[in-house]
Amino acid sequence: MIAFQPTSPLETVLSPPLRFADRTYRMVPSETRALFSMAAREDVVSLAGGMPSPEALPAEALRAVLQEVLATEGPSVLQYGSAQGDPVLREQICEVMAAEGVTASPDEVLVTVGSQQALDLVTRVFVNPGDSVVTEGPTYVTALSTFAAHQARIVEVAMDRDGVIPQALADTFALLAGEGRPAKFYYTVPTFQNPTGRVLGADRRKEVLDICRRAGVLVVEDNPYGLLHFGEQPHRALCADAPEGVVYLGSFSKTLAPGLRVGWVRAPRTVTGKLVLAAESAMLSASGLTQRAVSRFLSTTSWQGHLGVARSLYRDRRDAMLAELAATMPDGVSWTVPDGGFFVWLTLPGELDTRAMMARAIGGGVAYVPGTGFHTRGGERNLRLSYSYPSVSQVREGVRRLSDVIRAEAGDGAVRLREAVAR
Ligand code: PMP
Repeated sequence: MIAFQPTSPLETVLSPPLRFADRTYRMVPSETRALFSMAAREDVVSLAGGMPSPEALPAEALRAVLQEVLATEGPSVLQYGSAQGDPVLREQICEVMAAEGVTASPDEVLVTVGSQQALDLVTRVFVNPGDSVVTEGPTYVTALSTFAAHQARIVEVAMDRDGVIPQALADTFALLAGEGRPAKFYYTVPTFQNPTGRVLGADRRKEVLDICRRAGVLVVEDNPYGLLHFGEQPHRALCADAPEGVVYLGSFSKTLAPGLRVGWVRAPRTVTGKLVLAAESAMLSASGLTQRAVSRFLSTTSWQGHLGVARSLYRDRRDAMLAELAATMPDGVSWTVPDGGFFVWLTLPGELDTRAMMARAIGGGVAYVPGTGFHTRGGERNLRLSYSYPSVSQVREGVRRLSDVIRAEAGDGAVRLREAVAR
């Protein structure tokens, strides 16, 4: 019998010092991650994660299509596939985008492993270390980490209730151009934004496109929530009115299931060509099995019916959250009123810090995401709530608990203030 040796002498010789690339030092875990693991406790209502509702995941329909795909197309879907993605699915993706006014052709589309990968590839293709990327402030947290990992300089532009402030955007572009470092692109989530739930108003859409066109800045429109609208009609995508100036990122994660990891990017042909080359080196090809499953789901199941069920489920939860916020929040707290998507954005009175308050919230049985996660700096007075995952009664309970936490925190703040004045 050979004795087991935990560390061979050779292993010791071959463990060199780890000289990570500069960009690796920009990849840092979010400071709220530890709190998130506590948020998974059973006694905590989590309004933190932006996951789809388990009831909105069509498990049975997907089981059936996966089985059928394997039975009828087994050898081909289990092979390596095209780097650009399944051609039939790319045609169907064009039909999906048509609902938001986009006219696209399948050769402009690349299928990716979620839209997160699309964002990574777009950044890889455009951004050199030190290049400026302009974003809304606040913006999607993992977009910030993607840009940071590519060593971008992230420049935020303020928003109001109708989305990004056009004049502030124009001023930022002018400032960066004046410094000789013009923005490489403007990243925006114009519809039911993560984290605010806001929509860029229709007039502003034209204005923003005009500003970007005049400044010569490419727009990256990230739109995973657009089809989860609570009003009658979807909003018109930016890409619909400026296809040559907009790179559009889409996803089946929120409208079907994130576990499939099927997203896409639609871009002008020259850009798509570069993205396909980048995709080849990143992954060879996306999963043929899940691409064909999505494709078959779209062609054999009522996609509109499924979306209708998801919309009404999320609308009920949004209503529950807004009603409970109105009923329980102390004076001085304000929030956005989303008309689709997953998120509500709260602003607390001046003296409160949502990051510091998180420990009290976990103790009080509720979790949220502090606003600081969505900014390169600032956001202490804000927090993001998500109504997509918890049930209506959990949403109500979570908001009630949060109101108690805010009152207690504000009470302590007032005591601290009195003590400071007395000293
Ligand atoms: N963009 C935004 C704004 C998101 O909220 C998310 C998911 N939270 C993504 C992109 C990535 O989604 P996926 O990779 O699952 O398509």
